[in-house]
Formats: sequence, structure tokens, C-alpha cells
Amino acid sequence: MPVTETVTATQTPAARALPDSLTAQLKQVLGPKGWSQDAHELAPHIADWRGRYQGATPILLKPANTEEVAACVRLCHEAGVAITPQGGNTSLCGAATPMGEVLLTLKRMTGVREVDVDNDSMTVEAGCVLENLQTLAADHNRLFPLSLGSQGSAMIGGLISTNAGGVHVLRYGMTRELVLGLEAVLPDGTIWSGLTGLRKDNTGYDLKQLLIGAEGTLGIITAATLKLFPRPARMEVAFCGLASAEDAVKFLGLAKQVSGGAVTAFELMPRMALDMVLEHVPGTRDPLEGEHAWYVVCEMSFGRANGARETLEDALGQGFEAGLIADAAIAENDSQIHDFWRLRETIAEAERAHGKAVKHDVSIPVSKMPAFMAQATTAVEAAFPGALVIAFGHVGDGNVHFNVAARETGADDDFIAQAAPLSRLVYDLVDSFGGSISAEHGIGILKRAELAARKPVDVAVMRAIKTALDPKGIMNPRVLL
Ligand SMILES: Cc1cc2nc3c(=O)[nH]c(=O)nc-3n(C[C@H](O)[C@H](O)[C@H](O)COP(=O)(O)OP(=O)(O)OC[C@H]3O[C@@H](n4cnc5c(N)ncnc54)[C@H](O)[C@@H]3O)c2cc1C
Repeated sequence: MPVTETVTATQTPAARALPDSLTAQLKQVLGPKGWSQDAHELAPHIADWRGRYQGATPILLKPANTEEVAACVRLCHEAGVAITPQGGNTSLCGAATPMGEVLLTLKRMTGVREVDVDNDSMTVEAGCVLENLQTLAADHNRLFPLSLGSQGSAMIGGLISTNAGGVHVLRYGMTRELVLGLEAVLPDGTIWSGLTGLRKDNTGYDLKQLLIGAEGTLGIITAATLKLFPRPARMEVAFCGLASAEDAVKFLGLAKQVSGGAVTAFELMPRMALDMVLEHVPGTRDPLEGEHAWYVVCEMSFGRANGARETLEDALGQGFEAGLIADAAIAENDSQIHDFWRLRETIAEAERAHGKAVKHDVSIPVSKMPAFMAQATTAVEAAFPGALVIAFGHVGDGNVHFNVAARETGADDDFIAQAAPLSRLVYDLVDSFGGSISAEHGIGILKRAELAARKPVDVAVMRAIKTALDPKGIMNPRVLL
């Protein structure tokens, strides 16, 4: 029987005491700028972004290069001391919060080793913040398409370790599909140099894939070679009102077909989510006149400005004719594009203003997503009176953020107390639809027991791989497995 882990906000572990000789050696390897035991500096690193987990660490290591990472890992390996690697610390499932382990941040490793424009690739160090990499690619007239709400803080090492998703998965795939090569420090301190710009390389197991999505349990990523893409010359965005989620899925298929695959994002939200945004986020307004049950932000990207607007209009026109769309507004300029996207991107902020929610980041085959949302909403509302379901997300790739809050404001704490049985109900339905209990945020601490209960064979294989690479179990213990 699957078990749902509940929030562990009240558990504050003690920082484990390190042998004095190990502390002295780590400090010596890194020099005075490379470590900290100052409580003030440690504070933002030992609590997670949502404030759910409060951790502890005996020391924060801040290596400046791969050799320093390797030296630290080798010393910890010899001493049998556990390490938690950390990037931007934006994990939503407690994956980067140390619970007494040595904490190693990659934030000083921000070097750009190479941009190979003709090869459409760039090689960068693990501590580079995503937004800076998007700018770096644009400076070379290329696109690095990974795009998500935490891009101002999340670092490429963390994004790779969580196989992050975001809004452009529909066209460019998850982070896994954007990585050509990796450099990493393995749990015994060995440096693995797998950096390559090759698209074709059939030399046995694809080792980088083991580290992608491993949440820091198999080693520390120190650098990556990433794919670049042509920079779109023109982006067109429409905000559409629809009668049902089924119509949204059908319109997605039509828009992809009519545009020849130019749809780069396709985000779905119910009227109630739009209402929350309009109520809680200053400066937002509904671009459409009437009210509709569902809304879609549809983004298309084109290599040529010529014909771009006409293509979007053609798709919308066919959508109207087929009775899939009730109304639509097309953004006339960058400022309107920003305004349309803001309605989608501030749902989380509006939700927070409404109150606490039990959140589920799940995926379902796109074709079955409307049925899942309808069935899960009915089941949750029947079993948990007073529940308000806020289901929205990346419909283009089947990723639903199925969040459940208390309908009444002020009833949060009583409602959140039911998180475990509520999540179990949602995850059971996800399983019955052939979906996944973690679409893009990962497992971390939050969903570890749930994963073990639902995918025992997968977890046994992952444990065997973990034992082979990390027999002492020092890399991010307690997370994922
Ligand atoms: C506002 C907001 C919006 C978000 N939106 C999305 C979204 O749309 N899609 C999505 O997928 N996620 C989203 N996230 C979640 C989060 O941003 C991603 O999981 C991101 O990839 C984490 O990157 P990070 O650098 O912050 O990693 P951290 O949180 O620091 O670490 C995440 C995991 O990776 C490990 N790790 C970090 N660096 C390394 C390294 N160099 N080597 C080995 N292991 C490492 C850590 O130990 C941990 O297990 C969002 C988060 C926030 C706060």
C-alpha cells in the first residue's frame, strides 16, 4: 500500500560533528574563501525554498573548481562522511536540504569554458544560473530553451540533477534532452570527464544519463556541454477562452499540425485560477470580454517573421470553426506577450495569497489529461468536503499541477492536516491513468516513500546502481532512494 510522506517542517536535525582532522583538511584544500561555518551565511542554505524543511550542516564547502570538488569528496569518502550537493536551492521537494551532512555548494563555479557556435553547443560550469545561460546563448544568436519560474536562481548543475522541465518541454524536451556531455566527481572522488559536443557517440552505456535526474545521489556534476538551438525570429502568443479541457487538447493537436510544429508552449488554466490571479496579483487583467471555463496560453515560435502572425491566425480560425475555441486575443507586442504569460506564471503567487495547498506535480498522457482532471476533482471534492481543486499546467506535455486548497480562507491548517490521505487518493488515480507521481520536480525527501511503495522494482535497480557507484552511501543519503 503506497504511503504518502507528510511535511516534516518541525524536524530540525543536529549538524553531525566532523572529525577535527577532516575539518582541518577540508579547510586547507579550499582556502579561507572556500568554506563557512558562520550561522548567518549558512542560514539560507539549510532551509528549503518553500520553508518546509529546516536542515543543518557542520560546514558549507564552496569549491572554486573541479579539482577542489574532487579533493573534498575524496576526503569525505575516506572518512565515510556524507555530502549534500547544492545549486540554487530551489528544489520543491527537499532534495537539497542537508540533514546534518556536509553541504557543498557549486555557486562559485560559474565559468564558461566554451561556446561553439558552429556546433550549436556551450560548455559551462555547474554553478551557472539558468537566466545567465539564456543570455549567453542569445549573445551568440542562439537559444538555450530551458525556461522555468526559478530561472533567476536555479543553477545548471541542479537543473540537470533534477532533469528539470518547464514551459518549453513540448518543443525541446526535458533537460535530459538538452545535455550532450557532463563532467562529474564520482562518490570516491574520481573525476569523470564526459564533456563532449558530439550528437552521435555509440561507445557503450550513456553514463551521463545516470547522473541526469539522480538528485545528487551518484556524484557531483561540475560542468556540462549543452545543446543550443536557432533563435526564433518571431514569437506569437494567443490567450484563448475554451469551454472544456477536452477542447484544449484537441486544439493543441490542431495548432501543432497547422503550424508545422511551431507550438513552443501550451499552458492550461481554469477560470478559478484566473480569478485568483486577478484578485491577488496587482496589475493583471483579463484579456477577454466574456468568462470561459478554461484558458490556454498558446505560444508559437518561428524562424522568420514573415507569415508568423498569419500562421497563428490560421490555427485560431480553424479552432473557431471546429468549435474548440470560444474567444481569443493575440498579443500585439512584447508587453502584451509578457502580460499574457504573467497570468499563467503568477498562479503560484496567487495560490499562496489564497492560503496553503496540498500540491501534486504529476503527469498523465496528454490524451487522458482532461479525464484525469475531471475524475480526480470529483473524487477529491467528494472525499474532502471544503476542498478547492486548482488544476493547471503544461498541458502540451501532460504535466498537471493538481493542487488542493481549503475553499474557505482561514481553514488552511485543518485542511493541510489531511494531506497524506488526500495525496494517496490523487496518486492512486495517477497510477490508474498510467501517469507519474513526479512530472518535473523530482522525488527528494517528499516523495521517497511514495516512490518506493509504487515502483519497488525500479527502486531496487536504482539501489543496485547506487551501491555500485557509492558503496559507502555518502552522496545525498535520504534523498530519492
Ligand atoms: C518558483 C519556482 C518555479 C519552479 N518551476 C519549475 C518548473 O517549471 N519545472 C521544474 O522542473 N522545476 C521547477 N522548479 C523546481 C526547481 O527550480 C528545479 O528542480 C531546479 O532544477 C533546481 O535547481 P537548483 O539549482 O535550485 O537545484 P537545488 O535545489 O540546489 O538541488 C536540486 C537537487 O539537485 C542536487 N544538485 C544540485 N546541484 C548539483 C550538482 N552540481 N551535482 C549533483 N547534484 C546536484 C541537489 O542535491 C538536489 O538533490 C521551480 C522552483 C521554484 C522555486
